[in-house]
Amino acid sequence: MNGSALVGATARVAVVGAGPSGLYAVKALLESDVGVGIDVFDSLPAPYGLVRYGVAPDNQKMKSVIRVLRGSFTEGNDVRFLGNVTFGEDITAAELRAYYDAVIYATGTQGDRGLGIPGEELPGSYGAKEFVNWYCGHPDAAERDFALHGPEVAVVGAGNVALDVARLLAKSTEEIAATDVPDRVLGTFSSSTVTDIHLLSRRGPAQAKFTTVELREMGELANADILIDPGALELTPEEEERIAADRQQRKNVSLLREWAQRPPEGKPRRLHLWFWRSPVRIIGENHIDGVVIERNALQADGTLRGTGEYETLPVSMILAAVGYQARALPGVPFDEHTNTVPNKNGCVLEAEGTPRPGEYVAGWAKRGPTGVIGTNKNDAAETVDNLLDDLNDLRNKGRDSSRDVTKLLRQRGIDYVDWAGWLRLDTHETTLGEQQNRPRVKIPDLLSMLEFTRK
Ligand code: NAP
Repeated sequence: MNGSALVGATARVAVVGAGPSGLYAVKALLESDVGVGIDVFDSLPAPYGLVRYGVAPDNQKMKSVIRVLRGSFTEGNDVRFLGNVTFGEDITAAELRAYYDAVIYATGTQGDRGLGIPGEELPGSYGAKEFVNWYCGHPDAAERDFALHGPEVAVVGAGNVALDVARLLAKSTEEIAATDVPDRVLGTFSSSTVTDIHLLSRRGPAQAKFTTVELREMGELANADILIDPGALELTPEEEERIAADRQQRKNVSLLREWAQRPPEGKPRRLHLWFWRSPVRIIGENHIDGVVIERNALQADGTLRGTGEYETLPVSMILAAVGYQARALPGVPFDEHTNTVPNKNGCVLEAEGTPRPGEYVAGWAKRGPTGVIGTNKNDAAETVDNLLDDLNDLRNKGRDSSRDVTKLLRQRGIDYVDWAGWLRLDTHETTLGEQQNRPRVKIPDLLSMLEFTRK
């Protein structure tokens, strides 16, 4: 089934969010021996969520997981894509509960965690998600542009998003042109005059959250030398002992030590890796003149304390890659402390712990923004196993199986995009890519996207 109406006596499940967690949940549902029809809602006319709008554009290999995720929409499966439908506006949680036997929320995270330091509101200080949305061609950032004038910029955080952002800033025009970024984004990167990128980690090299594969890519930058103070790589005996038992940390430290020994080759850009440094104040009036950083020390209980030693980096832009944060979904319980939908193994709970039968959650909305794309496979499988256990009870609740949600959407004038519509946009983008010898050229603005989904 691909977009045309099919509502029968089989159980019907709504999946809210067509990102990796939602689509792994669809796959797990299809792999069960229970006959089930599935509608996958997304606020955008394009599927794949973070694979399309989060995985860095120079990581096309990782985007190949799309081949697995799109398989569920093939002929013969009762799976529909209903894109350009905003949950909570175009359709409510209560309506989904009435139209479906079960609902899975797989909406990921929508916002950035902030730094919470003075000057953060200045133009030139941004959350990484804004920047990632922009270079990934997300419609929310279609009107945005970033002044890549530098010459010095800072990226805060020691996770993979910080690595992605710093790596893209360090790449040459030719390297960016080999990706699927929108034309306008390519234009901005091409005129970048950034020369020095400072990556600020508040902890040490033995505590960074980088995964080794992603860190290793940094060492292969054609356009930038990596500069690290070798002193920052001297670990305490306790740290040496700890990393001996932690493969990722051990390999990370070994890579960093190797890089610290490399003489700079005079490449056009420089990536400075700072450890034990926190930004404490962004300075400037109408724009950023710099960022004050403070050296940190680790306390016996594992927390950090500022040492009172300050330096100022003369940066003109600061990107905080300090983690993403989910927002509450209308009509769905939300835990303000964990920023997740409260759940037990994927079964949604009220704030006080009472189960919400028929409602499930998967992915980052369930466990927070951790893990790589593949982590969502087992995560979604757990949620789906629990849903399937409940399905007989849920099907006896008396849902009117003659009702089709697409009728309701049409009555409301919602211009939903079906799978065939998405494929038209997909073909348009890949054709543009072929013309420019690029993997694809993304269309970032919503109206144009919608136009290309139509025949
Ligand atoms: P993350 O891995 O949680 O890293 C966040 C970093 O920000 C940590 O180093 C954290 O330090 C630091 N931080 C938090 N608050 C801070 C503050 N106020 N000041 C300074 N630093 C602060 O988050 P992420 O990088 O956003 O990544 C999210 C998930 O996506 C991760 O699981 C990541 O592996 C995954 N991802 C994977 C890929 C890939 O596989 N290619 C690419 C991108 C993202 P502390 O450790 O001290 O808290």
